[in-house]
Amino acid sequence: TVGAVAMDAHGNVAAATSTGGTTAKLPGRVGDSPIIGAGAYADSSVGAISTTGDGESIMKVCLARRTAELLETGVPAQESAARALRFMHEKVGGEAGVIVLAKDGNRCHVARHFISTTMPWVAVNNGCITWGIDQGQ
Ligand code: ASP
Repeated sequence: TVGAVAMDAHGNVAAATSTGGTTAKLPGRVGDSPIIGAGAYADSSVGAISTTGDGESIMKVCLARRTAELLETGVPAQESAARALRFMHEKVGGEAGVIVLAKDGNRCHVARHFISTTMPWVAVNNGCITWGIDQGQ
């Protein structure tokens, strides 16, 4: 997956998710990435979310929308991602990762959480680029 979340100077947010799908996928499989609420979700009053991982699990719990619902109730970005992923894992199994941009007035907080082996990431903030490859527990 290549996923992105962003906010513009006017406070509008966007999420995008692209994928090559899963290894040895059946012909015709669409997967979660293009499904709003599963692979991505954005609402300029709340934030933006992009997901990666086991698409069948992500779709079953609408992982991006579930993360947004937690943001809507005031749960911080990192905790929203962690709770949504924990819910998915306990309910249907599977591994996944989530990147979250949470609106905070005219500002935003960005967080990531994953329950997979690794999750590479890049962050761009006012032209400053940082990146890393997080290792799972
Ligand atoms: N979520 C994608 C899928 O199941 C796989 C990925 O993470 O790229 O199609």
